[in-house]
Formats: sequence, C-alpha cells, structure tokens
Amino acid sequence: MRRQLLAVFLAAGTIAAGQLSQRTVALVITGGTVITENASHQILTPGAVAIDGTDIIAVDSPEAIGSRFTAREAIDASGQVVLPGLVNTHTHAPMVMYRGLADDLALMDWLQKYIFPAEAKTVSPEMVRTGTRLATLEMIESGTTAYADMYYFEEEVATVTRDAGLRGVLGQTIIRFPVADAKTPVEGLARAERFIKAFKGDGLIVPAVAPHALYTNEKTTLVACAELGRRYEVPIIIHLAETRDELKLAGEQHQLTPVGYLESIGFWGPRTLAAHGVWVNDADIEILKKRNVAVSHNPESNMKLGSGAAPVTKYLAAGVTLGLGTDGAASNNQLDMFSAMRQAAFLAKLATADPTAVPAQVALDMATIGGARALGLEKLIGSLEPRKRADLIVVSMSAARQTPLYDPVSHLVYVTHGDDVRSTIVNGKILMRDRQVRTLDRTAVMSAANRLAASVREAVGRK
Ligand SMILES: [Zn+2]
Repeated sequence: MRRQLLAVFLAAGTIAAGQLSQRTVALVITGGTVITENASHQILTPGAVAIDGTDIIAVDSPEAIGSRFTAREAIDASGQVVLPGLVNTHTHAPMVMYRGLADDLALMDWLQKYIFPAEAKTVSPEMVRTGTRLATLEMIESGTTAYADMYYFEEEVATVTRDAGLRGVLGQTIIRFPVADAKTPVEGLARAERFIKAFKGDGLIVPAVAPHALYTNEKTTLVACAELGRRYEVPIIIHLAETRDELKLAGEQHQLTPVGYLESIGFWGPRTLAAHGVWVNDADIEILKKRNVAVSHNPESNMKLGSGAAPVTKYLAAGVTLGLGTDGAASNNQLDMFSAMRQAAFLAKLATADPTAVPAQVALDMATIGGARALGLEKLIGSLEPRKRADLIVVSMSAARQTPLYDPVSHLVYVTHGDDVRSTIVNGKILMRDRQVRTLDRTAVMSAANRLAASVREAVGRK
C-alpha cells in the first residue's frame, strides 16, 4: 500500500522525458540492517532510509532508495544497525550532577538525607543548564533521541534540550516544600503554567506538569496539577507507587493504594505518565488501563534503591502502555537505555522465575514505540516509517562482544552498549556522526560540569 502511494506520488510529480528523475533529499542512510519497529516488526537486511527536512521520506532496500533519491549527505551503515532512536520515559536530567554522590541507600533515606538537602543548597538555573548539557551529551552519545523529564527550572532544561537538538517531554516539578524555583506549590503551579505557555507548540519540546509524587503533595495540589494539564492539553507526569513505604503511607492516610487514591480524587487521565508503578495490585492495573495511563518502567533505579520489581508481565498482559526509563543519574547511575533494556529483560525473568518473560523484542519495543506511546508521540516517533519524524540511530555491531551476529534484536538488548552508537539523528538533524557530537562542545560541557561539581561537593560537605 505504501509502495503504491509512493509510486503514484513519484509518477505524478517527477516524471521527466519518460524517466523517473531522482528527488534530492538531505540525507540517506544506506547499507545497514534497518529495524523499523513498525506494526509488523519489519527488518530490512540490508535497508536504507531517506530523510528530508524533519521527516523520514522512505524506508526501502538500498537499490530502491538509490534509484529514487539523490542525497546531499550519505551515511554508509554497512555492517551496522539502523533503528528508531531510544525513548527514555523517565529521568531528571540535571541530576547527573549528583551522580555517585550518595549510593546504596533506600529511596526515603536517599531522598531525605542526601538528595533533597543537596538540591536545597545547589539547584539554580546555572546548575540546571550545566547538568542538562551534560545529560543531553550523554543521551546523544548513547542513542537516546527523546526523553521525559521532571525537575526544577524546567524552562532551562527545555532551552538546553532544544539547543542540543533532542526531543523532550519536560515537566515542571511541583512539590509541597520550598524549593529553589518555588516557595509554595501555588508558586510552582504558576511557574508550570508560564512554562507551558512558553513552549507549547515547539517542534522539539512538549511542556508538561509534574507533581513530584502523592507523598510529597497535598490533594488540592494534585487536583490543581491534573486540571492544569487538562486545560492546556499537556502531559502530567508523576512518580507512582515506587516503594513499599509509599504503599504503606497511602494505606495509613487514605485507606487506599496510591493508584486507588489518585483515582478517588479524579487525577488520572489519558495524558498521564506514571513513573515506576512497582507496588500495584490487579485492581490498580485495571484502573491504569481503564484511564489510559502510561507507565514508565525503571528497572535499574528500582533495583539500585531496592524498591522492588514492577509487574511488567501483568502490565503487558493487561495492555497498559509501557515505556522504559533510566530515572535520574543519581539512582542509576547512567542514562544508557541499552543497559535499561537489558536490565528490564533480566529483572522480569528473575521476578517471575520465567526466562520467557520480556524477550529481547519486547524490551526493544518498550524502549522505542512503547516509549513513544507513553509520551503520546507515537504518531511522530518510535518507528521508522515514512512521514514520521526522522529520529534514529546508527549502531556499530563490530565489538568482540557483538561477535558473531545471528540476531540484531538480541544483540541490541543483550550485548550492545550506548558507546556502540555511531550516529544520532533527531528531527532530521544529525546530532552526532561517527561519535562526533555536532550540537554540543563536548570538552566545554564536561569541564563546566566538573567546575560545578566542586560547589556540589562543598555544599554537601564531601571532600
Ligand atoms: Zn524519578
């Protein structure tokens, strides 16, 4: 069907002197194994992708693409794999500045004794800019092309993300206690509204409202956040049922589960993205499905903080939209989505004692088209198909650990590292080619982060 349409289009537009003339496009990536992640999980061996402007124009065999298009720039992906850029559905980009600052602690201790105090002393617009530059560098270098964020001074996150060329669904955090960018939740809400107005309609940035969690916000704030999101038709992002403590607290205070409580106050809607969803029962899963809530699964953060294993196989069986996330670098401690895919597969097998749980293809789906659905962007990204935005990566398959190669999907999930990504393209623009990042000055970004780390170290009294 698609081929027929393309043929008609070409016949109508470009026949000259009885011959098909070639259309000039900005970029052709050719010769690699193309993993489309389309509805039929089509893989072209080899394949080629033609890109012009912000869009994918065609996905086909190298011969077919070569006969139809002339490229201003070409990437020879022979021996490599071309796939949709990875979608990180939960992180806190500036928290790369707290990477390795406090490890090996439970969530509530980690948050209350280390992270919240460190944030109280060090979060500023400059810290957010410097941290986000470092995070976007790490994401571009490891093949993430779109991410969901929750933090403070989110307009700074948005500006840096847009300049770096990445796609972001970025949520202004709202929390009960005074924080660097808002003294009260009411101030936080006003800030969130200004942020939404400033970035709504942007080509790369989707602004969002991000009430931190149920246990860090009052009912009135949670309801106001949901109303704000609905009024502007933007996503609402929240941490949900991350730990057993959160479950216990909701039981004590509301005699309900976290999911049940948020249902009881009318919080859930189709644009909500809930991070973690570890401590949920079958009735909770039904509510999430009924309300069209997307869940961001963060296996590495959940393991590191000892939070538990989300019931991923139950979510999948119930048809809940599931994306994959790293969480902030302070609880992971990296933003590498290849590692997240591997750990998602392993944790599901361990938690269910079933080695068939979350096979490689399912983990890859979660990190691509599943993540796109979770962010409400599945019409634009998540698979390599004509008319979608050109968000894709080229991955090397020549490491010793990738040899021999029988199944590229298996290798992407089980042996590939972020460092194997050669090129990263977002919205048709090459952000990194052959490991050379074009949109950020790598040396300057790293030295700024190292300079800022000195003040973080001082603020938390660490030598
Ligand atoms: Zn988080």
